[in-house]
Amino acid sequence: YLMVPTGTAKLVVWPVIGWSAVIAILIGVRVNRPDAPGAWYLFAAGVATFVTGDNLVSFVEHSEPSFPSYVDVVYLAVYPLLIAGLVLLVLRRTAGRDQASLIDAAIIAAALGLLSWVLLIAPYVRSDDLGVLERLTSIAYPIGDVALLATAARLAVGGGRRPAAFWLLTGSLVALLASDALYGYLNLAGTWQEHNPVDLGWIGFYMGWGAAALHPSMRSLSTETTSTRRIKPGRLIVIGSAVLVPPAMLFVQQALGAVVDATAIALTGAVLLVLVMIRVAGLARDAADEKSEARFRALVDNATDAIVVLDGQGLVQYQSPSTERVLGWGAAELEGRMLGELLEEADAQRLGVMLSIHSATSTVAWRIRHGDGDWRDLEVVAADLRGTAEVDGLVLTMRDITERNHLDLELRRQALHDSVTGLPNRTLFLDRVEQALKRREPSGTSVGVLLLDLDDFKMVNDGLGHAAGDDLLKAVAARLLSATPTGDTVARLGGDEFALLVEHADFNGGLEPTAVRVQAALQAPFLIRDEEVTVQASIGVAYGSPRTHSSGDVLRNADLAMYVAKRNGKDRVEQYLPAMHEVASRRLEVAAELRAAIERNELVVFYQPIVDVITGVTIGVEALARWQHPGRGLLGAPEFIPVAEVMGLIVPLDRWMLNEACRQVKAWKSEGVADASFYVSVNLSGRHFQDAGIVHDVDAALTRSGLPAGALVLEVTETTLVKDLGPAGTTIAALKALGVRIAVDDFGTGYSSLAYLSSFPLDILKIDKSFVDRVVTTAEGQTMVRTIIELAHNLGLQAIAEGVEQPEQASALRGLDCQLAQGFLFARPMRARDLGALLTKRALPWHAISTGV
Ligand code: C2E
Ligand code: CA
Ligand code: CA
Repeated sequence: YLMVPTGTAKLVVWPVIGWSAVIAILIGVRVNRPDAPGAWYLFAAGVATFVTGDNLVSFVEHSEPSFPSYVDVVYLAVYPLLIAGLVLLVLRRTAGRDQASLIDAAIIAAALGLLSWVLLIAPYVRSDDLGVLERLTSIAYPIGDVALLATAARLAVGGGRRPAAFWLLTGSLVALLASDALYGYLNLAGTWQEHNPVDLGWIGFYMGWGAAALHPSMRSLSTETTSTRRIKPGRLIVIGSAVLVPPAMLFVQQALGAVVDATAIALTGAVLLVLVMIRVAGLARDAADEKSEARFRALVDNATDAIVVLDGQGLVQYQSPSTERVLGWGAAELEGRMLGELLEEADAQRLGVMLSIHSATSTVAWRIRHGDGDWRDLEVVAADLRGTAEVDGLVLTMRDITERNHLDLELRRQALHDSVTGLPNRTLFLDRVEQALKRREPSGTSVGVLLLDLDDFKMVNDGLGHAAGDDLLKAVAARLLSATPTGDTVARLGGDEFALLVEHADFNGGLEPTAVRVQAALQAPFLIRDEEVTVQASIGVAYGSPRTHSSGDVLRNADLAMYVAKRNGKDRVEQYLPAMHEVASRRLEVAAELRAAIERNELVVFYQPIVDVITGVTIGVEALARWQHPGRGLLGAPEFIPVAEVMGLIVPLDRWMLNEACRQVKAWKSEGVADASFYVSVNLSGRHFQDAGIVHDVDAALTRSGLPAGALVLEVTETTLVKDLGPAGTTIAALKALGVRIAVDDFGTGYSSLAYLSSFPLDILKIDKSFVDRVVTTAEGQTMVRTIIELAHNLGLQAIAEGVEQPEQASALRGLDCQLAQGFLFARPMRARDLGALLTKRALPWHAISTGV
């Protein structure tokens, strides 16, 4: 261009260069297919307008346009077109609000604006020899340039990759602005000439813009980017320089003689200060955000539950590190996958419903396929955080409850079945009788119950050993089953007692044939451990009619009949007769005696130590009732507690125990025999627990004895707890308000779901002896005990293992993290004075055992 003569350069080379840029942009859009073609069409239009202006000057005005003229309108139209195109790109590029980039761009624009004001605009404004229109037109150019530059700066500071096309575009703009500024400056000085090197800037503008459009990387100018929060050194330098512009101007003008633009410099300085302050505040906020985000992330990363975030379609967007442990799927396998694919069909549908409606937080139970191919039960807490900027997804917190569910089922099964024979137990049998009676309701026909007690079973048990006794019970169960029509129930009620439920007792000759069949089935000798054992049974039968009997009545009648059969010479069948009730008078006698015994102070409290198996320290005692009978000697709890329960004497008995135990333990504390944390655990019968006076009784015992409430634990069986959720809940709350603690006794033997445990404010869970027995014998037993202990700890309960008899059991329990235990291994229940003496001498004998020596 510079090498050809002015005429050729202006009339041939210049238009070719200009239009080739427009064509290049149009080709670029076709070839590169950007997702914001609009921006590029605006650029094409802008560049075309520019070229048109040049052409008008060259061809129509013959290089001598008047000033200002319509050509200036054409030239000035370039700015809005290019700016609009750049704004489109900026909008495409920025995700959400990006206040920081906007402020940075504003800082740069303000500084440039000041430069341009001082150097280009103010001189025109001040020049007196120009008319208003001329002045306005002259300053419109630099203002347009500053606006263009500000937009470009906004594009530049927006973050994201800076591809080749970006740099071409930047170069193009810099060239344009440089030439515009030089032109303005030379024009102002009156030394402007055509066809000089300044033109190269505009050529650079054309070529740069066209080349940018042709470069494949132009597509990425409109792809969304997220700006980094931190401020990079390059940007800091640019912003710092921008802020220094006003003082620099001040300095230069002062040096040149006079400060002529004080107002503009002061104003710009103020604006820059405000902008920088806003920016700094933003940075401080971001830093705080980052800190809390880091803290939150640490929480999520270390959570034991799996945390998974789904998008609106159910695609896994994020999974916490713990997910791999819980679900067996690593991030590579799960992220980007539909979670529904792993769920059971019905649960996947539920997830679909959950995704389709917006709800707050909900807890659900799902089954999911684990990475190892098995199905697992999950407890899932779903929090719908779609629409929140921070998460924007469905957050699922998942916990594996497979083992817990398994234990739940197993406990239920055990609660209703006898562990030796696998037959239904008393609870289930009573339930079956109840159901059968209900079914008979319409017809009024009766059901039959046959109760069978093995004669002299105790001799077999003692003679051949427990294991042989168990084998015999199993064999008897098998024969009973074979002698019973399917549909009728055979149960083991406990010990050597079995029961049969005959549904259609009115037909086929009543219960007689069944009884005969059963006796016949037991006729042949049993072969137990190479010994022949003959078994005889006393059988009592009773009918129950739906209108007059409850299941308990029928069973009690059969029991009386059986008792009579035994008394009348064993190996017999007796049918219940109302007259047999006199047999029950024996019980009444016991009851009468017991009533007097409470008054005559014949009851004794025995204390069994509760031990910390790690330190060997006795942390408390359980109070157990004994009866010092004038004629029969010392009676154990099983010999009179059940009678007391049935005969309505348990409440006064428990009350007496409570008072005596509190008094004794308070005395030990006062004497310094027991320390402040030592406690006493008192058993409360279910009946007493449901009694309205219970809270008063406990309160009175504490007040009378002076024992601190914290040193008293009340033991209740789980059946009592579940039986009557409502009242039990309020009773527990009232007792807890006194300050006493509550223990669940015989845990694992009741017919209950584990769910209730978390619904009461309990403190201690006593693991029943039947589980402790199995902790060293079977792997399954060990798993169950472990699960119970974990469950207790998860719920914040202390676990105490009951009935520990062997050192191996103690060390197994220690291995399972169960620190507290009681049992014959440590100490049998004993009289207060015996235990007091041992405590005083610190001579309790299990230190050696507990430390594993
Ligand atoms: P429990 O509350 O489960 O009490 C534990 C029973 O297990 C006690 O039987 C205790 O002597 C026994 N025991 C402790 N360690 C071992 C061991 O290592 N091996 C074996 N085989 N047994 C062990 P006890 O004193 O005969 O009491 C039987 C049940 O009678 C108690 O079971 C409790 O339910 C009830 N009971 C006892 N005293 C009272 C009372 O004052 N009030 C009420 N309502 N019930 C009581
Ligand atoms: Ca107990
Ligand atoms: Ca117990």
